[in-house]
Parts: sequence; structure tokens; C-alpha cells
Amino acid sequence: MYVTNLQKRCMAMEHKYASDCHSHSNCSPDGEHSPGAMAERARELGLYAYTLTDHCECNEYEGKYRERQAIAWAEMEKLSVPKGLVFLKGIELGQATQNPEGAREAVEKYPYDFVIGSLHNLRDKEDFYYMDCREKPREEIDGLLDTYWDELLEMIELGGFDSLGHLTYPLRYIQGEQGVIVDLERHYEKIDGVFKSLMEHKKALEVNSSSFFNGLGETMPGPGLLRRYYELGGRLLTFGSDSHRMEHLGRGIDRAMAEARAIGFTEFALYRQHEPVMLPLE
Ligand SMILES: [Zn+2]
Ligand SMILES: [Zn+2]
Repeated sequence: MYVTNLQKRCMAMEHKYASDCHSHSNCSPDGEHSPGAMAERARELGLYAYTLTDHCECNEYEGKYRERQAIAWAEMEKLSVPKGLVFLKGIELGQATQNPEGAREAVEKYPYDFVIGSLHNLRDKEDFYYMDCREKPREEIDGLLDTYWDELLEMIELGGFDSLGHLTYPLRYIQGEQGVIVDLERHYEKIDGVFKSLMEHKKALEVNSSSFFNGLGETMPGPGLLRRYYELGGRLLTFGSDSHRMEHLGRGIDRAMAEARAIGFTEFALYRQHEPVMLPLE
């Protein structure tokens, strides 16, 4: 059967509006490929929309990321967007709570479409990526998580972002990579608080599919928490692969969308100039 290029592209993703709103190019210290290569891959996959969200770690803003941010913005500005792809300009804003002035400067400096609010390390602590929890007593791990939820609440109050990135990020390392099982039930009350605050402040919740592919084996947050968010009335979701190289772009998005759909969500959001554009999860 004769198949056109367009049909081939559309077959790569199952969902009509499959979009990846969290990814990194080589404008991030840990990203591999150029924005142009990432966008071309997005087109090949047949993604409906693609948002590039390079890192801006506010706790290192003045010394490192202010300059990187300028480079990333210039790269997005000069990108020749492949035909048929909706390209949106974003940023992943880390640790805004640890440098509110830097965070404000970063998000106001350029007319971004989309800002992800993330927390990779707690105040005065290293990134969970580097933290070894295998020898830590359970109470200490629970204490770290308590501080994590509290700092997220503080971040939501502070504002300056559109969607909360990879909620449960510490579990990716503690549980997914170090095999220390965390009883999340103990944390439900605080997590409910995070969901309620997101809704109150009209912020979205990101479903991050990168952790399908590590030991965690489920999205961040996982289906249990997504169901809880839904029950509490949360309806604003964004989806992102958090890819740091082109081969990982769009990875897990279809599965994450199908799981959200099974919970009851019928649409998701893309952000353009910080305004949600709702699209059907079909
Ligand atoms: Zn992140
Ligand atoms: Zn990221």
C-alpha cells in the first residue's frame, strides 16, 4: 500500500494531539542535541506540538544560568521550525524558592510560552540525583520528602510558572534507582495540599513519562496520585518526556496519555504565552 510521508509521521504517535512539553537540548548542561535536531525529531515522530524547556537552575542563576538562558533563547528564536509542527518556547525553572529575584528576572526576561516549575534539590541540600538514600533511616527519608512537599507549596505560592514539573522527583532516585521503597500513603495529606494549592493558583500538573524507563516504572506522578488529583477536581495536565537527547523525545507520552484517559481525564493543556490551550486526549 502506498503510504505518504505525512501518514507515516502520523502513525508514529497513537494520540492525535500527542505533544511533548518537556525536553532539553544541548543548551542544557546535560542535553545532547541541538534545538534544530530535537525539533526535526519531533516532526519525524508526528508530534502535534513540541516545547523546548532547557534548564534554568535559579540557585545558580547569576553565576551560570543567566548566560545559558540567553543562549537558549537566541537558539529558539533563530530555529527554523519544521513544517507542520507547533513549536513553543519554554524553560524549566528549578528551585525558584531558593532565589526568587533570579527566578523573576529569568521568567520576565523573554516572552516564553511555557514555564515548568521544578524542584531538583531542597534548600541547602544536593540534587536528589546525587543523594544516596540506601543507608538512610526511613524517618530521615520521610523527613526529606516532607521538606520536598513543603518547598513545593512554597514554590506554588511564589508563582512564576505554568506547570509543576515531575512531582515525586525524589522517588525517581530513592525508589527507582536505589531500590528503597517509600510508603507514599504516609504522605497523602501533604500531597493533597500540593494538588489543592495548584488548583487554587490555576497551575497545571505535569505528567512526566521519563520514569517509565528507570526503576520507578511509572510516570511522575504515578497513576495513583493522578487519580487523587482527578478526584479532588484537578483537570489541568501537561505531558512531557523530559528527554535529554533526540532518541528519547516523545518517549512514553502515548502511554502516559492513555493512562490519564483511563483515569477519566478527557483533555490536556499546551501553553502558549502562559495561557492553557486545551486539546482532547484522543
Ligand atoms: Zn527537572
Ligand atoms: Zn527536565
